[in-house]
Amino acid sequence: MSGFAADVVTLFPELFPGPLGTSVIGRGLIEQRWSLRTTQLRDFATDRHRTVDDTPAGGGPGMVLKADILARAIDAVSPSGDGRPRLLMSPRGRPLTQVYARELALGAGVVIVCGRFEGVDQRVIEARELTEISIGDYVLAGGEVAAMVLLEAVVRLIPGVLGGAESHADESFETGLLEYPHYTRPQSFEGREIPAMLISGDHGKIEKWRRAEADALTRARRPDLLK
Ligand code: SAH
Repeated sequence: MSGFAADVVTLFPELFPGPLGTSVIGRGLIEQRWSLRTTQLRDFATDRHRTVDDTPAGGGPGMVLKADILARAIDAVSPSGDGRPRLLMSPRGRPLTQVYARELALGAGVVIVCGRFEGVDQRVIEARELTEISIGDYVLAGGEVAAMVLLEAVVRLIPGVLGGAESHADESFETGLLEYPHYTRPQSFEGREIPAMLISGDHGKIEKWRRAEADALTRARRPDLLK
């Protein structure tokens, strides 16, 4: 297998590749710059009803994914020592950032476990050393969309997927700032002009203008990034 190898353990493999099958990310899949394999968690159940969940110990609402079933699925897709980080999508996790996406893109791939219901038995998180990753401070119904968000952010950073490396250099978060505003023709749109600076041809001044715009936007919208 060439490139970055992504494994996803899920109760809903039919959701994949979904958005990961289109545009530059999908082309990267066809060109084998990365690979995607989904594993149906239910295939690792052992009883007649193919049960994957049970009621929470201690009571409370909802269901919990069983540790033994999950462990068997993880062991099947990622025998210990295959070098790839094992992630669990989880609102309690470490926030997904551009820095972390870049770190993952340099590696051999990822194994991603998608939670459902109330979540997963704590013991499998510990026993299989799953790193919990959150895509934001809100609660989804399952880990699948979160896994797609993570993979889309990572795969576009794999060399060759998004064209030139310069397509990344200026982007939001890569410089520690939000990106400056973009414009393209026509020169005049509903009475609004492209800023004169951008058609001056003076690349030094354009660079300065963009930097000042990025600073101002970041200060106004995300002052936390400047700390
Ligand atoms: N009871 C849990 C939420 C379960 S939501 C709690 O309060 O923390 C069901 C599943 O959706 C989770 O197991 C996780 O895999 C996924 N999920 C929900 N929100 C997410 C988020 N913000 N980031 C990543 N995964 C999330």
